[in-house]
Amino acid sequence: MTFQELGLSEKVLQAVEASGYTNPTPIQAQAIPHALNGRDVLGIAQTGTGKTAAFTLPMLSKLEQGRARARMPRTLILEPTRELAAQVEESFVKYGAQHKLNVALLIGGVSFGDQEAKIMRGADVLIATPGRLLDFFERGKLLLNGIDILVIDEADRMLDMGFIPDIEKICKLVPFTRQTLFFSATMPPEITRLTEQFLSNPIRIEVARPASTASTITQGLVATSGGYLKRDTLRGLIRDAVDFKNGIVFCNRKRDVAVLHQSLVKHGFSAGALHGDMDQTARMASLDAFKNGDVNVLVCSDVAARGLDIPDVTHIYNFDVPTHAEDYVHRIGRTGRAGRSGTAYTLVTPDDAKYVDEIEKLIQKKVDWVGGPLTGEHKSRVGDRPARDRKESRGTTGRNRSHDRDRTEESRTRRDHFAAREADEAARRPAQQPRNMQPEQSFERRDLSPPTPRHERRPRRDHDRDDGPPVGFTDHIPSFLLRPVRLASAKTVAEE
Ligand code: AMP
Repeated sequence: MTFQELGLSEKVLQAVEASGYTNPTPIQAQAIPHALNGRDVLGIAQTGTGKTAAFTLPMLSKLEQGRARARMPRTLILEPTRELAAQVEESFVKYGAQHKLNVALLIGGVSFGDQEAKIMRGADVLIATPGRLLDFFERGKLLLNGIDILVIDEADRMLDMGFIPDIEKICKLVPFTRQTLFFSATMPPEITRLTEQFLSNPIRIEVARPASTASTITQGLVATSGGYLKRDTLRGLIRDAVDFKNGIVFCNRKRDVAVLHQSLVKHGFSAGALHGDMDQTARMASLDAFKNGDVNVLVCSDVAARGLDIPDVTHIYNFDVPTHAEDYVHRIGRTGRAGRSGTAYTLVTPDDAKYVDEIEKLIQKKVDWVGGPLTGEHKSRVGDRPARDRKESRGTTGRNRSHDRDRTEESRTRRDHFAAREADEAARRPAQQPRNMQPEQSFERRDLSPPTPRHERRPRRDHDRDDGPPVGFTDHIPSFLLRPVRLASAKTVAEE
């Protein structure tokens, strides 16, 4: 099948050719003709399958007819995160090079004023996160009754983030006669229900099993203890990795992203961070720094990193075992893309060993332990701030660095094992010197990720992941807050 056979307009075909694509991917080949015919589409596909072009290209073809009116966008694309929304905008810029379309982005963390001006000018395409879209609508700055095409992307991630009530609301606000293009990597019951309610006789297209992991990815489990020893294990893994170009480190909680990022920078790594509490400018700066190679380690939360198209990532480190098995597939899918080889290590403490079974069940294979499985030696939790780390936090002196070199016996043994294993793998690949560490000046590197409050609506589910417990009290709620409060009656207050 060629792009010419799909029925796309001449201008779109030119843009596809300029992108260097020779053939449509399976989701494009199957979805585009139906989307052009106005049919609703239910695409079960994950990122990396070319699904963005599967909805962008037919939209561009259709948008060649007609004009946008002020405050009344013609098409709407809903994305779960700001990064994904920005990525889809980039696709419109790339594939819409021959079109003169107004594309507006409505995402949290960016000033209302600029976004409003774009909407006022009339948007052919509006790309939005659900929270910010509803904010605009509720303030009367946006009309949704001109929407001809509605795209709901990454629906299962919307579910994880608690956006489904917002999606339902938005689906009811756009015209009943619209065309809906709906994409999800998995189909949990809540998503099936949503498609039954809001899609009209859709064509169902499923490409690749959602639970599969690419065969080009070498996977390994690494037994470790909790607390600072876990960070020590991670540092050893990154330092000793063979063929390391860059790596993404996933944490389950936002607050751990910040802690781990600071720790890595302190230990001389060239690292950035990406999590939901950072403002949009800082998030984009981190992402760009990683894409450009200014930093070669990116510490992320799932929500921030989901679906990002970062080609050529050599290593993935699950600093925490994901509590949802599908997240494992998504995380490690950031490497081994387009037939390249990649390595994914998952650090396992006694606390999170239980989630490994779920992952192995989902991917239908056992993942090897490297350096030996968990033993009684591995402690669930150890003090998070050992004397050694406290000293390091005062500054990076030569003495502190020598402390770091003086690793625990445990991590040294494991590193020897990795070195032997990876050297063996390297012997089968072209030799390349790992450059995992930044030179000394990395200690002066600007911290790209000051955490700032986010303006997006807060997710209402899965608080264990991108949303940890409240920062102030962490897990502990002081008992005085739990005591019942007797409210004074209006009469008593008046008497006083
Ligand atoms: P997506 O699944 O939309 O995130 O796309 C993943 C990557 O595939 C992006 O980098 C696209 O540029 C690329 N891509 C999309 N369609 C094609 C195609 N037909 N041929 C080659 N690469 C493609």
